[in-house]
Amino acid sequence: MRFVVTAGPTREAIDPVRFISNRSSGKMGYAIAEAALEAGHSVTLISGPTAVRPPADAQLISVTTSDELYHEVHRAVSQCDVLVMCAAVSDYKPARVEPRKTKKRNTPFALELIPTRDILASLSKEDRSYLVVGFAAETHDLETSAQKKLQEKNCDLIVANDVSRTDSGMESDENAVTIFFRNGESRTISRRSKQIIARELVKIISKMSEKCLTKKP
Ligand code: C5P
Repeated sequence: MRFVVTAGPTREAIDPVRFISNRSSGKMGYAIAEAALEAGHSVTLISGPTAVRPPADAQLISVTTSDELYHEVHRAVSQCDVLVMCAAVSDYKPARVEPRKTKKRNTPFALELIPTRDILASLSKEDRSYLVVGFAAETHDLETSAQKKLQEKNCDLIVANDVSRTDSGMESDENAVTIFFRNGESRTISRRSKQIIARELVKIISKMSEKCLTKKP
């Protein structure tokens, strides 16, 4: 099967030297790319800026902003069987990018932020011929928020992780996740290395995708 995996953070420019971003390391997405390759799938890895070495056999597309990621995902999905949206896309970006470095001031000032486009929500459900896996990084109300995202973002399954823990999740080499399915079922994978979690996820995704591909156009 052909996997498209997004990974890492996005950066939203404030001015030529400053940006808004998040703590995503890219490790989970890169581990999924690696696990999919190990299982014999082809992988396009669309990645924000990370310090992780990409798997040699993946086709790597590097992006910086959420808008670049939006375009690359839309381009890549026309040729895929599975989209794994593991990237921690910035939810907001500055309303304006200052062309010159903003000077330091001694008074407070407010930065106007506008929502970025939601990439998952923008992928039309009706004519979709691939499986969509979303991620939900939550600090509270994990189950309720993940279920809501599963519906609102038209995902086939969503992988939720509690990022309030210091021993797993963002930046860590380990993760603990609960996978929510559209039929209301869920499956929890307790704290493990991101490599082991990635292999489990690829197995679950592959099984589901085989079923979906026989049903969808
Ligand atoms: O709403 P939230 O950012 O928590 O949703 C997380 C999921 O949505 C992830 O799969 C992420 O890749 C995706 N996302 C997206 N476009 C955005 C923000 C998040 O596709 N602008």
